Amino acid sequence: MKENKKVNLSIVVPIYNEEENLPILYEKLKKVLDSIGKSYEIIFVNDGSTDKSWEIIKELAEKDPNVIGVTFKRNYGQTAAMSAGFDIANGEIIITMDGDLQNDPEDIPRLLEKMTEGYDIVSGWRKDRKDAFLSRTLPSRIANWLISKVTGVHLHDYGCSLKAYKADIAKNLDYFGEMHRFLPALAKPMGAKITELPVKHHPRIYGKSKYGISRTFKVILDLFLVKFLLDYRTKPLRVFGGTGLILLLFGFAVLLYLVGIKLFLGQDIGNRPLLTFGTLLVLSGIQLLSTGIVAELIVRTYYESQNKRPYLIKEIIRKSE
Ligand code: UDP
Ligand code: MG
Repeated sequence: MKENKKVNLSIVVPIYNEEENLPILYEKLKKVLDSIGKSYEIIFVNDGSTDKSWEIIKELAEKDPNVIGVTFKRNYGQTAAMSAGFDIANGEIIITMDGDLQNDPEDIPRLLEKMTEGYDIVSGWRKDRKDAFLSRTLPSRIANWLISKVTGVHLHDYGCSLKAYKADIAKNLDYFGEMHRFLPALAKPMGAKITELPVKHHPRIYGKSKYGISRTFKVILDLFLVKFLLDYRTKPLRVFGGTGLILLLFGFAVLLYLVGIKLFLGQDIGNRPLLTFGTLLVLSGIQLLSTGIVAELIVRTYYESQNKRPYLIKEIIRKSE
């Protein structure tokens, strides 16, 4: 790793067995980045490749001071690789892209231009996607529609890796698993301004795709988690407690009704199903309320144990003594 020097731009590229693509990608990136005229660094994160990728990255990093090579001890997945890139990036703007030449470095200047309009995230949109229709493009369309609906952040192409982030947003995002595609949605509660921009997409020529159709299911599962993280993480009592309160009120009403019947009409209520129902409602209500309170405590521990704050400060002005 090179010393920490501030640069304008960090390009983060996760690499898993891309030996044929790496040299071509590097040349293309270098050409585009040199022409922009801003300081930059290219961070290749080798995600436990079993081919010559790391040797190639090492060589590039040794001859070009703008290249930083990072390597994992094993394959952790694309999300982990991106996250490592975010952690060591020194740029004010961080751009992520795939290392398989499916994203085009020539789109970078356009992404940057869009960022100057005041956005925190500009997400690439592979409008003319060059992947198999049935196994890739169609499931992805459905997934994108679903993710947009559920998260309320409407993007055509969550799966596109080519995205630009302001560094403070990227570095404070909180995610795990295979969640890199959800980053714009996870950034929304931080007040991030998000937009999308059509970008080029090329078929993969060298190497193989690392994913199959099973990814769609994983993405849907992750979506549940994202929804939970987005809506409930900071206020679980509202969710559990809200439902609990409603059940409790219903239960009380039912029991009150039965007490009325007993007292004023003198009927037996001991054998009425409604009695069981009312009792059940009251009990579940109490259960849910206490779950909500326990969840609140857990959430607090979560933030405190990681020294995390549930907010992101844009600026502090203070007159120093
Ligand atoms: N990748 C990675 N770790 C993995 C799988 C993929 O770093 O476990 C990298 C891969 O080398 C590529 C990018 O993530 O640079 C996207 O992978 P791929 O092209 O296989 O995905 P697809 O384009 O088929 O969705
Ligand atoms: Mg690819």
